[in-house]
Amino acid sequence: MAQLSLNDLEEIGTLFGQKERVANGVHHPVAAIDSRKISGGEIFFALKGEHTDGHAFVQTAFENGAALAVVSTEWFENTRQAQPNAHFFTENLFLSVQDPLVALQKLANRYRKKFPIPIVTIAGSNGKTTTKEMTAAVLGTTFRVVATEGNFNNHIGVPLTLFRLRDDTEIAVVEMGINHHGEMNELCQIAEPTHGLITNIGHEHCEFLGTPEEIAMAEGELYRYLSRTGGSGFVNADDGLASQTAGELNLQTLYGIEQPNLGLNIWAKEVQLNQQGCASFKICTPKQALTLNLQISGRHNVYNALAAAAIGLNFGAKLESVKLALEHFVPKSGSKRMERICAAGLTILNDSYNANPESMRSALGTLASLICDGKKIVLLGDMLELGSVSETEHRKLGEFIEAAGIDLFFGFGNAMKWTCQEAPNKCKGHFNTKSEMVQALKEVAAPGDALLFKGSRGMKMEEVLEALLASI
Ligand code: ATP
Ligand code: MG
Repeated sequence: MAQLSLNDLEEIGTLFGQKERVANGVHHPVAAIDSRKISGGEIFFALKGEHTDGHAFVQTAFENGAALAVVSTEWFENTRQAQPNAHFFTENLFLSVQDPLVALQKLANRYRKKFPIPIVTIAGSNGKTTTKEMTAAVLGTTFRVVATEGNFNNHIGVPLTLFRLRDDTEIAVVEMGINHHGEMNELCQIAEPTHGLITNIGHEHCEFLGTPEEIAMAEGELYRYLSRTGGSGFVNADDGLASQTAGELNLQTLYGIEQPNLGLNIWAKEVQLNQQGCASFKICTPKQALTLNLQISGRHNVYNALAAAAIGLNFGAKLESVKLALEHFVPKSGSKRMERICAAGLTILNDSYNANPESMRSALGTLASLICDGKKIVLLGDMLELGSVSETEHRKLGEFIEAAGIDLFFGFGNAMKWTCQEAPNKCKGHFNTKSEMVQALKEVAAPGDALLFKGSRGMKMEEVLEALLASI
């Protein structure tokens, strides 16, 4: 049975208190970093956040039923000295370590090693979560799958995901998100993926990662890790930088759109968007072709679907079941990723989850391709973390809007001023408050119109949408 052994724990730190609780190891360990989410038997890791220090909640964690708290030696010694006879220290169990975050990562890796199963990493600039969810849906037709929950894709989320592996897990799908060089390699050392996919390379976290070429280097650590460890990769052949970084991989599955001559293993052809902006296409392998109708809007989702299909087929799923899983795929309600809402005769695309130059263009292209009776209106907030290319990219977005087949554009945020300047024929105004934006929108929006809401996470463009929905 999958467990963390006493040895695993003692090699990471020093146990104090009720050691007999773990004398036979911890079966099916559940890791928790939030004491409020503890219901009984969890290992609580006292992590230091930006605003709070998990050590302040160790007591609550035990009150709620934590079996063990992983705490820093510094905290443990100081707190114990302050109250040397407290029952607290004798009645509970502590693993005292130098750094609880490092301990979380090391223990997660030790636990991962007990599972001789494929671990598929999904990385890249755009579409990781969507691709991960599509992949889990495709693999779920044939295997018992554990996949990253939501967007838990960083140095904390990846280990937490690994702790969800269970005896019957056959494949894990682990999203990895980075914003610094070297981070991908660290995540790979923790999760030890056997397979990996980079969705694409775009302007993500440029402030920290630099130019697209530098971003490709940082994401490419995944393919380099796989190449060192004999793993295999799935490669988006249409993304120049992503496929360049895959150069060293021995085992590659190539996917793309309408380029069978390039030796693709799986491709889409005859891509068309319907009235709701959902793609229909033929999904092809060298042996078979089937028509596939997606229910999620956006041409970019053809790539996300192809990625999931490439992974599914690699593990032996049939193209027919891949097609069915993808046709049933809808974004989770509240995901803010191309969510389609109909209200008061308006068709609304809520893509307010996040934005960068590539995903902006893709979402605008989707809105432009919708067939609607009225106007096409976009409400955009700033694209954040673009660093030195912020002005250039916001201006380029304005030029794109001018030519994109959009009727009206509303901008919110400091950087959107640049976009407004470059889209003089489409810009209906630049707004400093969301309430002014909603007011102006209500004056022009009419039944039959199609609206797109998008901006970086920090811009919270869904608040504009919520205010609109509350007032119509
Ligand atoms: P994060 O970095 O926040 O984890 P992510 O890479 O997981 O993001 P998703 O959450 O799947 O990406 O999608 C975020 C937004 O990116 C979507 O709302 C959509 O606009 C856009 N997007 C999704 N897939 C693609 C793609 N393949 N190409 C370009 N843009 C995409
Ligand atoms: Mg994500």
